[in-house]
Amino acid sequence: MQSWLDIPQNSDFSIYNLPYGIFSYGKKKPRAGVAIGNFIIDLKRAYKKGLLEGIKIPKKIFDAPVLNDYIRLGKSVHRAVRERLQEQLQDPTSLLFRYQHKLLVPMEDATMHLPVAIGDYTDFYSSEEHATNVGKMFRGEANALMPNWKHLPVAYHGRASSIVVSGTPIRRPMGQYRPNDNEPPVFGPSQMVDFELEVAFIISRDTELGERIPANHAEDYIFGLVLFNDWSARDLQKWEYVPLGPFLGKNFGSSMSPWIVTLDALEPFRTQGPVQNPPVLPYLQTEGAHAFDIHLEVAIIPQATTQETVVCRSNFKYLYWNMAQQLAHHTVNGCNVRVGDVMASGTISGPAPDSFGSMLELTWNGKNPILLQDGSVRTAINDYDEVVMRGYCQKDYMRVGFGEVRTLLLPAE
Ligand code: CA
Repeated sequence: MQSWLDIPQNSDFSIYNLPYGIFSYGKKKPRAGVAIGNFIIDLKRAYKKGLLEGIKIPKKIFDAPVLNDYIRLGKSVHRAVRERLQEQLQDPTSLLFRYQHKLLVPMEDATMHLPVAIGDYTDFYSSEEHATNVGKMFRGEANALMPNWKHLPVAYHGRASSIVVSGTPIRRPMGQYRPNDNEPPVFGPSQMVDFELEVAFIISRDTELGERIPANHAEDYIFGLVLFNDWSARDLQKWEYVPLGPFLGKNFGSSMSPWIVTLDALEPFRTQGPVQNPPVLPYLQTEGAHAFDIHLEVAIIPQATTQETVVCRSNFKYLYWNMAQQLAHHTVNGCNVRVGDVMASGTISGPAPDSFGSMLELTWNGKNPILLQDGSVRTAINDYDEVVMRGYCQKDYMRVGFGEVRTLLLPAE
């Protein structure tokens, strides 16, 4: 596909992508948009100009400051809009071409907002490499994976209220931790703030309480994917997590990228996931390929330098449990899901040591500090470090990317 619009060759937001987000510019209120090259198509204005005529979209749906109602319209509408925009971007006699000065907003003039109202957030633990690494560090080689791990996608319910969009700073949390195992705990700023490289999917259909989503239809319930940094305070986490699991070590903030890349855009990058052995129970069995080849990386940019150091390169396809299995398992007991719910993958680590998706693993619990380009070393994230996660798919000329999720860590208050 060729567009009349100048789209940089290496842009994450090619004509094959067209991800959705919520943006504002000038004095305009937040509204829905689609990213293309260095621009955002203002869907509210596009609708008014008749670009989407013939597609069943109720009035005012693009005025909303979140995408939930648009997502609820269903995949046939999302597909029709995507195809219409692709046509308009290729046709130099189109309405989009004619009104481009009104409909295309330069990204640099826009502020991005959280794209959905998030009712619930679930965090999985689906990378075998990550679970094994953490298990080895805390329980030893012999008990690295818990007995349940290969039989069900392990997860916990996270906190939706503290999910923020890329660009929103996170403050170092205060809390209880125990620096010395033989002494009482202390209270203070966490000394071990870490990132977790994750990808999250957004639910596109409500289910009823009591309803189960079958694994082989689970992707019908997924609108699209975002990059997700699930910030973690390791010292708080370590002290609090027995017996009920993560709490304050996790819920002080999670950051997501502003553009939701649809499953349709990711279709060309579908691939087989790892072979699952032992075989999973029938309700978790999926046919065909359910992994996606998404290159992921994490960079750290220290204060007072613009020099970034890429500390991790991983891939979404490494995950042992796929999204369909996650969703089938999540709902097998009748738990309902709602449009806008966020389901994160868990830290995505690969087989190589430089593909580990957290500082905990990259430094092997602090034993191997990481040297940054500016000469400083890290075993955890420092105050005023910026952490940037990026993700993209590439096949020949076709590039579909996520942009980035960028977060500045502020000192404790
Ligand atoms: Ca996590």
